[in-house]
Amino acid sequence: MKKQDVINFIEDFRQNSGWNRVSEEKAIRPDLSGLEMFDAAVCGFAAASDPAFLKLRESGVIGPHHPLPADWLEGARSVFSFFLPFSRSVRASNAGGDDPSPEWLHARIEGQDFINRLSRALEEWAAGQGRRALAPAVNPKFAFCYNDNQVFMDDRGAPWPVSFTSNWSERHAAFVCGLGTFGLSKGFITRKGIAGRFGSIITDALIEPDNAVPDNIYGNCSMCGRCAELCPVNAISLEKGKDHAICNEYVRLTGVKFSPRYGCGKCQVGVPCEFEIPRR
Ligand code: SF4
Ligand code: SF4
Repeated sequence: MKKQDVINFIEDFRQNSGWNRVSEEKAIRPDLSGLEMFDAAVCGFAAASDPAFLKLRESGVIGPHHPLPADWLEGARSVFSFFLPFSRSVRASNAGGDDPSPEWLHARIEGQDFINRLSRALEEWAAGQGRRALAPAVNPKFAFCYNDNQVFMDDRGAPWPVSFTSNWSERHAAFVCGLGTFGLSKGFITRKGIAGRFGSIITDALIEPDNAVPDNIYGNCSMCGRCAELCPVNAISLEKGKDHAICNEYVRLTGVKFSPRYGCGKCQVGVPCEFEIPRR
């Protein structure tokens, strides 16, 4: 399996599958039917045996609940991660105000559906070449890991456990695959910016790794603090970074208001890292 073939497959799926556009039935408003959610992806490649995956299992990084690629797929040799930047229409619509725009809600929910379909298509494509491939995010073993100490009440007064971690982190996989670094907002800044979504595949195919794990996990962030200024609930600060509990609760409330969709992303638009690596 060659890198360029992977990149070509993802781009062909993005352009031609039809799933990168909001359907007429799903559109929140009639004029949003056909909205294109994602621009062309950027991809990064790592060896499944890269020691950086071991590092993720350390307490204080992610933790021992984060399996190695070979725990997901026996005989794993390679991992690739892809970042799909939100289209200009999606990004521009979400600038300003406290509520997520309808376009952003679509890109967050129907956009994730697109990524899930792409991930399964990549698994099938690999199988067609006699290779095994697995997308952790759509695998039955994928799970969020809840912290019993942090439980909110939902709008009906029932406990609603808060999860900030899972047994496969797309952004950490992107880091090991050399796609970029984290930002102050804990979003992930690639060369196509921070506003978008990630997916990843573990495969037994041998793909030349990029060997591009950054030295500094915040290397692409200028620490300008603009994301902190834009957060409607002050979940981000230069001093303390991001308070996930505050962010999570705000996003949950958007789910009450905009059910069945949710989202925010105000820290990802109108910021210097929105669609590129910012200058320091
Ligand atoms: S807005 Fe500034 S501080 Fe926030 S993540 Fe982007 S570059 Fe970093
Ligand atoms: S997603 Fe929204 S609530 Fe969460 S940190 Fe970003 S701006 Fe704040």
